[in-house]
Amino acid sequence: MKTILDTLEAGTTWLEKKGIEDARRNMQLMICHQLDCSKIQLYTRFDEPLDESALAPLRVMLKQRGEGVPLQHLLGTVEFYLRDFHTDARALIPRPETEELAEILIKRFKLPESPAILDMGTGSGVLGITLAKEIPSAAVTCADVSTDALSLAEQNATALDAQNIRFVHSDLFSQIEGGYDLIVANLPYVPETDRPSLAPELAHDPDLALFGGQDGLDIIRTFIQEAPSYLNPGGIIALEIGIHQNEEVEKLLSATGFTDIKTYPDLSGILRFPTASKS
Ligand code: GLN
Repeated sequence: MKTILDTLEAGTTWLEKKGIEDARRNMQLMICHQLDCSKIQLYTRFDEPLDESALAPLRVMLKQRGEGVPLQHLLGTVEFYLRDFHTDARALIPRPETEELAEILIKRFKLPESPAILDMGTGSGVLGITLAKEIPSAAVTCADVSTDALSLAEQNATALDAQNIRFVHSDLFSQIEGGYDLIVANLPYVPETDRPSLAPELAHDPDLALFGGQDGLDIIRTFIQEAPSYLNPGGIIALEIGIHQNEEVEKLLSATGFTDIKTYPDLSGILRFPTASKS
């Protein structure tokens, strides 16, 4: 009978042939998911045989992963700021760099005592829910144009028992009323021209969450122009953007009258998180 180690090795080789990056880690996590154990526990169980009842669902998962279904959709969860969030095709899969944006906001910005926070384009809710949990005195509003995304975000807020949070179905600011101390937004920013060269996994993210017109900045342009009307004096705006978009976004922020404009790099050095204040 095949052991866990045999299965790990055979699955890794198969995923490598299919061109999947980090094939071994992918296979480990799929086995852990199937056996409901941690990666550490898996190492201690390498010699254990796997029977058909465990192998059959693993084969299905492996086949889907080989076809480019993202690992996060197969596992159903993703860790963000040390919490597990459900993820599926209703919204963008949370990315590690967005976690860095949460960290910058939590650790480097001084917010008023009980801040009013808006997460515009909340998707799965990772930013808004993380801010609500980390800043219990905050009142957080999560907005999205997608009702699918909102249903996922609400599910995550319930699972994580975030209570200082509400959800609004809104096309950018159309259903929002003002008075925020912080508006954070991970809006779609991928240029339409990049579509042919994107990794196959991105086909599983909703188009609505990814693409922002020819240069990627269509939605961000409108967002920046409208944001000041919804910010308190001294309020902060913080965004996530793509590679090489920082100069254009900084220009937009400055033309709209924002001050203290600063773009923070992500861990790979890409200028990824523009921030600014309303004077
Ligand atoms: N970071 C994502 C990607 O390029 C895009 C996310 C977004 O458009 N907000 O894979």
